[in-house]
Order: sequence, then structure tokens, then C-alpha cells
Amino acid sequence: HSAVHSRAHSPSDFDTSYDDSLRAQLKVRGLLPPHVESFELQKARCLEQIAQKSNTIDKYTYLSNLRNTNTNLFYRLLMDNMKEITPLVYTPVVGEACLKWSHIYTQPEGLYLSYADRGNLRAVLDNWPAEKVDITVVTDGSRILGLGDLGVNGMGIPVGKLALYTGCAGIHPERTLPITLDLGTENEENLKDPLYLGAKMHRVTEAESLEFLDEMMIALNDKWPGLVVQFEDFKNPFPSLERYRNTYTCFNDDIQGTGAVILSGMINALKLTGIPFKDQRLVFMGAGSAAVGVAKQIVQLFVKNGIPEDEARRMFWLVDSKGMVTDDRGDKLQEHKVYFSRDDNEGKQYKTLEEVVDLVRPTGLMGLCTIGGVFTESILRKMASFNDRPIIFPLSNPSSKSECTFAQAMEFTNNKAIFASGSPFPEVEADGVTYYPGQGNNMYVFPGIGLGTVLCESVHVTQEMIYASAVGLADSLTEEERAKSWLYPSLDRIRDISVSVARHVIRASQAENLDKNKTLQWLSDADLDTYIRTKMYNPAHEHSPAGSPTREIHGFDTK
Ligand code: NAP
Ligand code: MN
Repeated sequence: HSAVHSRAHSPSDFDTSYDDSLRAQLKVRGLLPPHVESFELQKARCLEQIAQKSNTIDKYTYLSNLRNTNTNLFYRLLMDNMKEITPLVYTPVVGEACLKWSHIYTQPEGLYLSYADRGNLRAVLDNWPAEKVDITVVTDGSRILGLGDLGVNGMGIPVGKLALYTGCAGIHPERTLPITLDLGTENEENLKDPLYLGAKMHRVTEAESLEFLDEMMIALNDKWPGLVVQFEDFKNPFPSLERYRNTYTCFNDDIQGTGAVILSGMINALKLTGIPFKDQRLVFMGAGSAAVGVAKQIVQLFVKNGIPEDEARRMFWLVDSKGMVTDDRGDKLQEHKVYFSRDDNEGKQYKTLEEVVDLVRPTGLMGLCTIGGVFTESILRKMASFNDRPIIFPLSNPSSKSECTFAQAMEFTNNKAIFASGSPFPEVEADGVTYYPGQGNNMYVFPGIGLGTVLCESVHVTQEMIYASAVGLADSLTEEERAKSWLYPSLDRIRDISVSVARHVIRASQAENLDKNKTLQWLSDADLDTYIRTKMYNPAHEHSPAGSPTREIHGFDTK
């Protein structure tokens, strides 16, 4: 169509599902092919076109274009084909897209905040076309997935993640803002690549980076007061989180979302063992920041269930590269290990995981040490001999670093293992039964955390709210799913799951009196769920002729 038309129409006016009256209203008769199509037909055409593309980057690019030209159709497709489309929009394909970002680039997709614009960020925000933003995902590109420093090529991550906020939790796409910071890059390939789209400079110092983030947080909250800021894929995530969590509405999904998903799987796993919380004994292989973070969240669970903290702490045994972490090991323990260090080893040192397993006879085994295969056949068989249903959580990524595979965990425990992993594994067939591995996918919680925080207008995102998101996820399994010993619900029900997560997050915010939208306090749980649902973007209603609920709620113009 010509420039004359593009002045009058936005790309979203061209949707073959629009009926005659809407076509007349939008003045697109003749610009659209005549057949008024069902959503089913539209989606079938999209799926056919995706199937015809021979490589995943072409599929990714096709979907990006669809999102930019017919947002509603993109989300209809995503929501109705979560299993097929999510891997093309987010991991794993987004990783490949980020690696090639400067080469496959066709359009901006989000906001690039450049170090050259420091001092001027508030003015740059005014260039963003939408009036209102509810949530932004921000990365500095310094640790994109497991791919290292990709600089501004990391833009695929905030874009993809926000697509999931919309698809999974119904945050309106026009109210999402992907941001990538250009603070330089240490990626030599980028620095040498003539097509690289960022500044050709090494990263600024940590202090300069924090000063830039300070300015960004002030500018964002000046333009869109109280928006939710989700930090993602920062090489060093702690400074920004610690600096802003008590001042702004923000969280870090790599740390907090991941922690919540693992805790949620653990809540259901502990229940499945049939053993009371107070009798659980958990051995952790790995005592790094991830292991200690996960263990502390489980302590919080035990404490909330009436176990004194000092007792709860003693239900954990951590193993690092030197063996079982004890007070009398003779080395100066790193600060984060002290809390779980044992004093009841009677002078004896336990060097290997197997020695610790023999000593403790644990109910659960958690792997966060990034060493593939350390949960050996012998160890797994022992776990099965100590327990009817041993908890086996090899959480290290990627799959090659997983402490064991799902197949191994099942084979060596006679299919009794209660299993969740960080990386995906195929299901296992045994004795005519299909067993499904639990996978702690962050997608289960971050969309609901974002939605709940936005709707109750929480002043902060607290640890209590993150904890609540884990409980909300654990609560969202159906009886049928529990009967199959699943730890996580089916992703097909992601919107229902997000409602449950959002409600729990809202309740936690209310309990700490952090909710600015007080009206939600008076709603029963059922009414709150209904309220949450009415606020969720539904691409099947968008542009429907007679003002649908979503149009009223998010009724503002795109241009
Ligand atoms: P980290 O800080 O490097 O910690 C690794 C830990 O493993 C350290 O305690 C280390 O011991 C220990 N270790 C290394 N080699 C060992 C050996 N040969 N024997 C025994 N212990 C050994 O790493 P992190 O940040 O905590 O992350 C660890 C893993 O968790 C990564 O694979 C990450 O992908 C995974 N993770 C997964 C999820 C998930 O969602 N599933 C979430 C977060 C993290 P020392 O302390 O003695 O060096
Ligand atoms: Mn991440």
C-alpha cells in the first residue's frame, strides 16, 4: 500500500479476521482481501508458513515481523500454540537470534539506551511511542543466557521475555517496554564486526554502569511512575538488585524467579514424599550462590510451617569442591557458606558426595555444582534404598552439566524418583507407563509476578511476594496432575497458572501494605481471580467491533 494509506492506517488495521462493519469503520475495504477469516484459518496459515521455513532463524524473523505488523494475530498464535511457538520466540532460538542480532536486524524492537546518552536519558524516553508503560525488561547484554557478553545483541532477551509476559499473563503488549543498555561490550567478535549495532567500545566501569542505572531508574519512574522494572541477564546481578529493591518496584528474574520456580517444585516434591517437613534431610552438591539461595528459600518454607529457623537450617548438608561444608574443615569458609556449615561432624571430614550421602541418608539430593554426572548410579541406587520416593533435583545447566539425566534418575531408582531439573529432558517410557520430568522453567512465575505487581500497584517486589509466587505456582496443579506425581503444571494452562501466581503475589503485597490499589483488598479470592482475568489482554477480543472489555480497560491509541 502507498504512503497515502500508511498515513491513515496502522499495521494493526490489516487483520483478515475483521468483519465487514469493522472494515468499513477502519476504511480498509479493498485494502484487505475479501474473505473474513476465522482465527483458526489465520493460525493455520501462520503455522504453514513457519513449517515451510527451513531454519530456525527464518522462523524467528517471520514471527518478529508478525508481532510488529499484526500483534493480535501473533498473540493468538502464541497463546494457542505455546509448546510450538515459545521455543521460537524465547529459548532456545532467541539465543541464536541474539548471536546474530546485528546481522538479522530489520527494525528496532525496543529501546536502546546508550552510554553516549547519559545525562539525557529522560529525553530519550520521550521518544518511546506508547503513552503508558506497565513493565520493562532491562538487560545490559553482559550475560545473555549462557552465551556470555553479547552487548546490544542481547535485545532479543527483553523482547522475547516481554512477549511471554503478554502471552502467559496478558500484560498488554502496548504497555511493555524492552530495554537494552549499551554500556560497551567485551565481546571481541562484536568489536570487530562492521555490522555490530552497538558502540565499539569496551564496557564502562562498574561505577559508571551503576551511575547510568541510577539515572535510568530515575528517568523511568519520572516518565512512568511506579512501573515494574525486571532486570535480566546481568553478569553481576546483585548490585542493581540490592541498590533498587527497597526504592523502586523491581526484581531480577535470574535470581528471584529462578529461586521461586525451584522452591515451588520443592514444595510439591516434599509433599509427594509423604515425609513431614521436620524429618526431611537435604543434601546439596554445590555450595555456590545458587545452591545457598535455593537452600535459604527452602528454610523459609520450613520456618513458615512452624519449624524454628535454627532447626530448619540443620536439615541441610552442603558439599563443595573440598567436601562437606563444616566449621572445622580448616579453611576459611566463604561468607555465604557459613549459615549452613555443620558443627555436628565430630571431627570427621567427608570428602565426597557419596560419603555424605552414606552419612546423612538424605530424603533429597539437589545438584547445583555444574558437574555433569556426579549423581552416579551408585548414589542414585542408595537414594532409592533409603526412600520410597527420593527427591532428585539435578539443577545445573545446560543438560551436559546436569548432575544426572531423567533417564538415569528413573532407571536407578526403579522409577521412584521425584525429579526436577534445570534443563529439559525427554520423557521416559517404562513398564508401559510414560513418566514426565519436571522442569523448573521460569516462565511459570515471572509473568504472574509481573501481572500481580502491576495490578495491585505494589510499591516494591519483596521476598515475601516472590515466596508467594512459588506457593501460587505449587497450588495451581490440578488433581489429575498431582495424581501423575507432576511437580509443575502443564504449560498449556499457563494463563490459569499466572492468575494463581498473580493472586498470591497481590495478597503478599497487601499483607505488607505495599499495594497502592487498595480496592483489591476487599475482593474474595474468587472475585480477585475474576478481576485479574478481566484485566488480561485477550487478542481474540482486540478490535472486536463492539467495545470488548479489553478495549475499555486498555483503551488508548497506538499511534
Ligand atoms: P558457582 O557459584 O560457581 O558454584 C558452584 C559450586 O559447585 C561451588 O560451591 C563449587 O565449590 C561447587 N563445585 C565445583 N566443583 C566441584 C566439585 N568437583 N565437587 C564438588 N563441588 C564442586 O555457581 P552457581 O552460580 O552457584 O551455579 C551453579 C549451577 O547452578 C549452574 O550450573 C547454574 O546453571 C545452576 N543454576 C540452575 C538454576 C536452575 O534454574 N535450575 C538456577 C540457578 C543456578 P567451591 O565453592 O568449593 O568452589
Ligand atoms: Mn536470564
